[in-house]
Amino acid sequence: MSDCIFCRIVAGEIPSRKVYEDDEVFAFHDIHPVAPVHFLLIPKRHIASLAECGAADCDILGRMLLLASKLAKEQGLDAGFRTVINTGRGGGQEVFHLHMHVFGGGASLPGF
Ligand code: AMP
Ligand code: ZN
Repeated sequence: MSDCIFCRIVAGEIPSRKVYEDDEVFAFHDIHPVAPVHFLLIPKRHIASLAECGAADCDILGRMLLLASKLAKEQGLDAGFRTVINTGRGGGQEVFHLHMHVFGGGASLPGF
């Protein structure tokens, strides 16, 4: 059994509120949403973080970006959404399985 919480979610060993699934990608609602809609997009294959990605991962990264937009629309985020990938301890990453936060809805998010 994996000790990675997101690998265990993909395997169905830990319950999640699934948004989307295909052969390579899994998406589920964040357990601590920061906006009315907040879900996470992950590769099914364990990749610790964006910093571990290389040229071989171009396809999965591109698919995750395109799915972020498609799923955000399906979740009703017509006015827009934010994507965030925290990388490494310095980037605020807490779960070391690559994931893209997609969130929005309600009041407009503040700019950086
Ligand atoms: P990060 O700081 O980018 O590593 O964010 C990890 C995210 O995973 C946080 O927003 C958590 O709320 C979320 N999270 C942790 N465990 C779960 C879980 N079991 N189901 C859904 N989301 C989770
Ligand atoms: Zn994992």
